[in-house]
Amino acid sequence: MAVSVSVSVDPARCRGHGVCALLLLDRVDLDDWGFPLVDATPLSGWWRVHRARRAARACPVGALFVEPHATDSGTTGTDGGGPPAGDPAAGDPGRRRRS
Ligand code: SF4
Repeated sequence: MAVSVSVSVDPARCRGHGVCALLLLDRVDLDDWGFPLVDATPLSGWWRVHRARRAARACPVGALFVEPHATDSGTTGTDGGGPPAGDPAAGDPGRRRRS
């Protein structure tokens, strides 16, 4: 069974460190004050799920959550799960954060 996850932030805990935006460029952007704007669309593929979990572990205050969603497709999805372009973990700096 393929697993997909969605990412969310507890705004009461978040302190705006921005680590999540660095690790999940395709799902987290920062607002003008440095707080995360999270795209909660489910992520699938082992690489994306791994990155989401790593970002949650890296949050210094435990404000980033990764919630699993079971799918009934029985496959690993169609995206292949490989690192996307622009992923710094794959050695591609991709887009830059707003300053
Ligand atoms: S890493 Fe944690 S504290 Fe920092 S912006 Fe993301 S959710 Fe907030």
